[in-house]
Amino acid sequence: MSNLPHWLGEKLATSLLAKKTFVDEAGLDHENGYFVYHLDNLKRHLAKLQQQDIVKLWYAVKANPLSNIIKTLGGQGFNFDVASVGELQQVLRQDIVPKRILNTGPAKSKKQLNYFLQQGVNTFVVESLNQLNWLNECAQAQNSKPTVLLRVQLQWPDGEKNPLGGNSLTPFGLATTQWAQIQLGDYPALDICGLHIFQWGNMLSNEKMYSLWSQMVPPLTQLATQLNMNLKILDLGGGLGLDYLTQTNTLSWSQIISDLAQIKQQAGVEELWLELGRYAVGECGYYVTEIIDKKTNFAEQQLVLAAGINHIIRPAITGQPFPCCALSEKVALKKNAAEKMLDYHVYGPLCTSLDKLGTLPLPANIDVGEPLIFGYCGAYGFSESMPFFLCHNIAAEYVFEQGKLTQVRAAQAASTYLR
Ligand SMILES: *Cc1c(COP(=O)(O)O)cnc(C)c1O
Repeated sequence: MSNLPHWLGEKLATSLLAKKTFVDEAGLDHENGYFVYHLDNLKRHLAKLQQQDIVKLWYAVKANPLSNIIKTLGGQGFNFDVASVGELQQVLRQDIVPKRILNTGPAKSKKQLNYFLQQGVNTFVVESLNQLNWLNECAQAQNSKPTVLLRVQLQWPDGEKNPLGGNSLTPFGLATTQWAQIQLGDYPALDICGLHIFQWGNMLSNEKMYSLWSQMVPPLTQLATQLNMNLKILDLGGGLGLDYLTQTNTLSWSQIISDLAQIKQQAGVEELWLELGRYAVGECGYYVTEIIDKKTNFAEQQLVLAAGINHIIRPAITGQPFPCCALSEKVALKKNAAEKMLDYHVYGPLCTSLDKLGTLPLPANIDVGEPLIFGYCGAYGFSESMPFFLCHNIAAEYVFEQGKLTQVRAAQAASTYLR
């Protein structure tokens, strides 16, 4: 298998080839697609991210809430950013102590805030005045004093160069003008000592990332001064990107760390935090499904797969395909012999034109029944999809650890979720 892409290792490819069948171990539910997470690679990657003392790392659980993934992150010293009761319970079930959990998200009800406090969570990113009041009331009643970061949303005045691109408003956090109106003394049960900002995604350039971060510092430190806040913590969220189009625009982690050391100094904070999703787990994940049909339609070479955006929706939302290669001995041999590649239009099975995974170069003689493997599917894959449309099976999930492929979740037929 000399012609594997750089994102797919020989051991995993061999193991997936040997798996061959799309029927799960119990032999009951047909797997029309499955995810695999390479936990050994994930562990190595996370250990590298931890070799620094500049930034405290949290994991944004929404990127991939699978138990094995959470445990691997926990084992590498990551803390956890959760944004719902479901995510909180999933992290607690993996024996992560509540002191290692923070709560973000625009939809925190008073009931939810109370529940999080009761569970022992002690760090909150607050996104509205209601959340601030409710948390103060709940903390007072429970005699606790949580650490609070105010989430800030920045806008640039018309006509000024906007480092973020567009100026669309979101429900994440509040404008500095709104936050500037509060009095910290009105919230005696809260230790309000930090600011949070995150309004960019999938950044691929170190220069652009640094420029963005550094433009956030002056308005944030100004707000802290206005509030008479001793700014101890600055949380810069996530947004570190992955090169899905494999154009080799990859971020340098050591450059990020030296840039962040400067940001930390500029902001004058004791602690700098990041909550990583994509950059932490994206590369460790793969998605495999098989070709159901192949045809030439007008001038288009079309492949129709057993599963598509019902299992991985990201290409339809962003217009960016996941990198892909053919995975079968037959194709590997054919490819060695001929090396002829064709651009195939790759569709899923759903009866909507949205269900397209991209236009991808694949061996010209690829055929029905052969599997395709997609890379960089570890983040925003399984949990960010539309699994119920057209009553297909829910994807299976596997982990690859110490050379061994283990099923964590069997495929689930529509009969298990339809009522
Ligand atoms: C989604 C999210 C992240 C992670 O974003 P990535 O771009 O995947 O790193 C971090 N923080 C918050 C508050 C988020 O909502």
